[in-house]
Formats: sequence, C-alpha cells, structure tokens
Amino acid sequence: MNHTTMTRQDCLALDGADALAPLRGQFALPHGAIYLDGNSLGARPRAALARGLQVIEQEWGNDLIRSWNKAGWFDLPARLGNKLAPLIGARENEVVITDSTSVNLFKLLAGALDLQAAAPDGARRKVILTERDNFPTDLYMAQGLAEWLDRGYRMRMADAPEDIAAAIDDETAVVMLTHVNYRTGHLHDMRALTTAAQAKGALVLWDLAHSAGAVPVDLNGCNADFAVGCTYKYLNGGPGAPAFAWIAPRHHARFRQPLSGWWSHATPFAMQPEFRPGEGIRRAMCGTQPIVSLAMVECGLDIFSQVGMEAVRAKSLALTDLFIALVESRCAGHGLALITPREHDRRGSHVSFTHPHGYAVMQALIARGVIGDYREPHVMRFGFTPLYTSHADVWDAVEHLRDILDTRDYHPDARQNAVT
Ligand SMILES: *Cc1c(COP(=O)(O)O)cnc(C)c1O
Repeated sequence: MNHTTMTRQDCLALDGADALAPLRGQFALPHGAIYLDGNSLGARPRAALARGLQVIEQEWGNDLIRSWNKAGWFDLPARLGNKLAPLIGARENEVVITDSTSVNLFKLLAGALDLQAAAPDGARRKVILTERDNFPTDLYMAQGLAEWLDRGYRMRMADAPEDIAAAIDDETAVVMLTHVNYRTGHLHDMRALTTAAQAKGALVLWDLAHSAGAVPVDLNGCNADFAVGCTYKYLNGGPGAPAFAWIAPRHHARFRQPLSGWWSHATPFAMQPEFRPGEGIRRAMCGTQPIVSLAMVECGLDIFSQVGMEAVRAKSLALTDLFIALVESRCAGHGLALITPREHDRRGSHVSFTHPHGYAVMQALIARGVIGDYREPHVMRFGFTPLYTSHADVWDAVEHLRDILDTRDYHPDARQNAVT
C-alpha cells in the first residue's frame, strides 16, 4: 500500500481484514479515546472487573485465609509465570511473577554477580555493562548495587547501541540491557549480543519491559541467562501489577540472591530458623505478593493466549509503518523528527518523534483524546498495541496531530505534570 495516497477509507478496509481486530472488544476503553500509551500502562481487560470482584468479594471476603489454598493464591506467581512463559520463549517453571521490575533487577543482578564471583576468573569480573540510554531505574539499581557491594564493583555505560559489543571485556561480569529502548523504540539483537557477551565470559540480563507482549522474544533460543520485565505495559496487567523474573534453568541450582525472604525458602511453612533456598525459579521470590493486583495479570495473559506473537508483531509493524509514513507525509514542515529506527528488525512497538514543543503538543493531543506520552528531552511517544489499536486510530491520531500543528492549537508554555 502506498502510504502517501492513503485515505481513512483505506485504513477502515485494513481494519476489516485484520484478524486481530475483534480482540479490541475484550478491552474496556473510554469512548472516543485513541489510546496510544499501552506501552506505559496497558488498557483494562473487560474480564478484570469481574475477576476483581471475585477475588475481593469471594476469595478475600468470604473464604479469607483459606484462599491461600482453596483459590490457589500461594501458587499464583508460578502459575501465572507459566502462562506468560510462551510469550518470551521460556518453558514451564522458569518464570515467576513477583515484585517490581526494579526489585527483580536487583535480585537477578546480585545473583549474576554472585555466580561470576565463583568463576575461575571471578576476582576480575566486577563490571555491570549497560548503555547510557537505558531506562533510569535499571541504571540506578545497578549503580546502587555496585556501590553497596563496593569491593571494586562498578557500572559502565556504552554511549550508543553499536558500542556495546566492543565494550564487553574480561572485566565484564554482567551485560544488562533493555531489549526495546523506552525512549527511541530501538530494538537490540538479543541473539547477537547474548552470543557476544558469553563469548567474553559475561552473563546477560535482559529487561523485557517494552518487549513482553510487544515483540516475539526467544530467551531459551537465544541462550540468555536472566530476564525481567513488566506486566502492566503491553501485557495489560493493571497499574503497578507485579513484574516477572526468568532465570535460565542451567543457573537455577547455583543461583542465590540477597532478598532471601520466606517465599524463596524450600519449605516456607516449616518455619525453620535457617534459610534453605527453594527449588528452581522460586529462589527469585522474596515475600508475600499483592494478590489482588497479581490476580489481574491473568486477565491480560488470557487474551494473549488467544493469539500468536507472530501475528501481534506483524500488525505492530503495520501500525508503526503506517504512523511513521502518515506523520511524515501529512505533518511535514512542522519540525517533527523521527528518532525510532525505520528498519523492522531494529524497531519495537512504539514510535517517537521529537518536537521543540513536544510536551505542549502532547498535552494538546491528550486534550483531544489522543493519549500518548512525553519523555525528556522533547520526545513525543506513541505506543501501538495490536490487541486494541486499529489502523483507523492511527489515521485519526495523525489527523489530530496535523491539525494541532497546522493551527498551532497548543500552549508552548504548558507546565509539566509530575507524570508526563
Ligand atoms: C517501565 C520500565 C521499568 C519499570 O520499573 P518499575 O520497577 O516497575 O517501576 C523498568 N525498566 C524499564 C526498561 C522500563 O521500561
């Protein structure tokens, strides 16, 4: 399809032929809104309301403490981890849903450094290698852990994605990378970077916050070592829903982490004074989980179980291609600059443009019901979620953007909210 001669009618025709289009009906979206921020907070699955009522009214209200067994609360982190596993190329008993992405980064990084310390050349391997443009919490957690450990541990940052491979050396303990960059949407080559790191004796930790449910991921196929990620973004688990942690099974037996709470114990209810780590991925856990929030995650995963990630990816690329082409043809001359890679194999599922008044223009879009978000500096970010975004949504969003820019319908001095 030639995007420059495209019409809204063409977009509607694409929606008519889209096998994923009916899934939108499984989400509760406000009428008239075009939601392009599912990469930051996924939309609510309709089923979450009934599930929420059930967990609060029946399981908590009526069954009370019995629900740990009767409603399967205790097994929820592992059971939902198994449901998530196929989306990231993991197998049964390799994933738990627990804690936040930040906390999981801490536990898995600490565990990875500990594995390296026991290696023959461990005394030398004290660097966590990452990139300057990684998400801040990833950088802060790595810095905090290295400073806390002291003894020569430190974080090193590559300046650009293409500098990472060359920066891995015999001091590198762990390469910690976010698969899809939160700002630019740049997608790393997981297989190539994992292979390059392991060839130098390093372990690799992947943050899948903007990948899980957005792009196909094959952790085992790429021989990755560790992974973490969010469930409240593309997986539609609900605001602040617990995150996930994955550890390659070859590391399970020797993996240790410092937040060794009772949920990571081999027999939590034996109430023993000595810590003994549980089997397998349970070791990555710490304490009691927020069950109400955790229960919501299943509603999002149940929608993904109806589709394959290849179909999700094909539609994601179609939507992001369409958005880029329409913005560049219909909003030309307004100072927008694409910072997302054009190559399919380098692009995640969101698209970012910079504009000198990016924050103000995004506020104007949101006022019109086109909900994206803003990231420093000057970045307008638009997330495309194939389960509930249509081609006509893309058309309409670009029309609003064009109109706002053409008529200067924004306030350049708009004050920033706490959350942008
Ligand atoms: C969203 C995101 C996080 C969020 O971490 P929380 O602990 O849930 O606040 C972490 N890392 C990346 C790369 C993200 O995109």
